[in-house]
Amino acid sequence: MRVVVSGGSGFLGSHLCEALLRRGDSVCCLDNFSSGRAVNIAHLVREPGFTCTSCDVASRFRISGDAHAVVHLASPASPFDYNSHPLETLAAGSRGTENMLRLAVRHGARFVLASTSEVYGDPVVHPQDEEYWGHVNPIGPRSVYDEAKRFAEALTMAYRRNQGTDAGIVRIFNTYGPRMRAHDGRVVSSFIRQALEGEALTIFGDGSQTRSFCYVDDMVRGLVAMIDSPQPGPINLGNPRERTVRELAELVLQVTGSDSELRFLPLPVDDPVRRRPVITRAREGLGWHPRVPLGEGLRHTVDWFVSQPDTRVRPRQQSAVGRQS
Ligand code: NAD
Repeated sequence: MRVVVSGGSGFLGSHLCEALLRRGDSVCCLDNFSSGRAVNIAHLVREPGFTCTSCDVASRFRISGDAHAVVHLASPASPFDYNSHPLETLAAGSRGTENMLRLAVRHGARFVLASTSEVYGDPVVHPQDEEYWGHVNPIGPRSVYDEAKRFAEALTMAYRRNQGTDAGIVRIFNTYGPRMRAHDGRVVSSFIRQALEGEALTIFGDGSQTRSFCYVDDMVRGLVAMIDSPQPGPINLGNPRERTVRELAELVLQVTGSDSELRFLPLPVDDPVRRRPVITRAREGLGWHPRVPLGEGLRHTVDWFVSQPDTRVRPRQQSAVGRQS
């Protein structure tokens, strides 16, 4: 199978490309390297089944050869990225999604949209199943991302209904792991960087807001299952084990062996209070559930951050990187 992956040099995309190649698929990665990094796919470029084209999927682009599946991951994804590139975020969700859908139609390929738990906004229903329509501020600072993804979902369903496209949607909840960028502003990478550098861990609000953290290997298994499935979705992919942000901070301190303090800052506008996926559809429709416990996933992630020669993140003492039982 030949799979086109937009955003393939990013955090999730590079792991997905790797998993697809490992099982014998060919991969055509499309990326404009706005938040993706060449180093994420450097180990793949010599593989015979891998090609990468630098392009903006919201503009014109071409691929050569066949496509049996098209996965649309390209979008600024961290609050830092979408706040600094609001128009590009809207374009990736709208024109980018339509271009990738058209590509799938041309090739008669399966299409998978990487949507997000952010379509639920600051949910008033808890936990969130796929029937819930969400509670999103359409003009707030997060709206460029949330509404772009909601539009992308609507577009995907319109192609499915009206063009007969074999299209499916996954709603991805917070995912973490190696290849996150140290300064992307996401909570897991921020806490790990701060803990390793001996800085205070910055918690927005009192830390009682909850998130559900899924390790990247689990998420990639779910994405691959969705590529292989005829399911339309939307299907939640995420870890249903809910954690407070304060709990996460304390776990990161334990795993890193850091004695950093916790610093509490005002909660940003429209920050969701609670997040937890119901994953019945994923279990029943894809045979998927996450397997990696948070402590184990954090250890892999911390080890990766520490091993990076090109990052300025360094534990103050190498021996300070502890192990949590
Ligand atoms: P990322 O920033 O690491 O990856 C996004 C990739 O898309 C980057 O490689 C970037 O260069 C590329 N890109 C952005 N705009 C592009 C464009 N117009 N043309 C071509 N390439 C473009 O982020 P990620 O965490 O890997 O997220 C991947 C996808 O998964 C995104 O669509 C995101 O919304 C979704 N998602 C991720 C999470 C998560 O926790 N990581 C949660 C929910 C949804």
